[in-house]
Amino acid sequence: MARYTGAVCKLCRREGKKLFLKGERCYTGKCALERRAYAPGQHGQSRKKTSEYGLQLRAKQQAKRYYGIPESQFYNYFLTAERKQGMTGTNLLKICESRLDNVVYLLGWANSRAEARQLVNHGHYTVNGRKVNIPSYLVKAGDKVAIADSSKDSAKIQAVLETNGARPVPQWLDKAADTEAKIVALPERDQIACPVEEQLIVELYSK
Ligand code: SF4
Repeated sequence: MARYTGAVCKLCRREGKKLFLKGERCYTGKCALERRAYAPGQHGQSRKKTSEYGLQLRAKQQAKRYYGIPESQFYNYFLTAERKQGMTGTNLLKICESRLDNVVYLLGWANSRAEARQLVNHGHYTVNGRKVNIPSYLVKAGDKVAIADSSKDSAKIQAVLETNGARPVPQWLDKAADTEAKIVALPERDQIACPVEEQLIVELYSK
C-alpha cells in the first residue's frame, strides 16, 4: 500500500483523537482537532453508531497512523507479536515502539515520526556505532543510538535539537547526552503513549 501523502490533520480528525503527526503544532492551539473536533468531509458532523467491527478497525487504523506503518508491515508485526510470550496486543505495541524512527522521535531528534523516518533514511543516526538508514530497524535493550558524527553540525539536525532538545524522554531510554542514548529496556505498556486499545486490534486480526 502506498504511503499516505495527504493532509495528516485529517487523519486525527477522522480518528477523533490526537495522533501527534505534525510535531510542535500538535501541542498548540493551532491543532486542527482543537479547532474542528469532527471528522472531515460532508458528513463529518453527522452522528453515527459504530459497530464492534468499526471500533476494532478504527483502533487498528489509529495505531498504524500513529506510527506511520503500512498495512502489510503492521500485520507482520501482529504475527510476530502473536508468536511471542505475553499479551499479543502489548507485544505488538512494543514492536512498533522499538522501531528506530520512533526511538529517534522520542529522543527529540526529529519533529515528528514522519520526519524521523526521513532523517533515518538519510543516514543521520547510528546504532552501536554503525550507520543505520532503515526506519523499521528494531532496537534492542542495551543498544546505543546516536546522531552520526558527520550529521552533528548539519543545520537541519541543529534546528531539530534546538526545538526538541528539552522534550521529556520516556524512562526506557537513557539520554546520556544531547546526541546519544541507550535503550535501557524495551518499554512496558504503561510507558507507551500510543492512545489505542490494542486488544481491539488483536480481536480484529483474530477473526
Ligand atoms: Fe493531529 Fe497534530 Fe494536526 Fe493536531 S496538529 S490534528 S495532533 S497532526
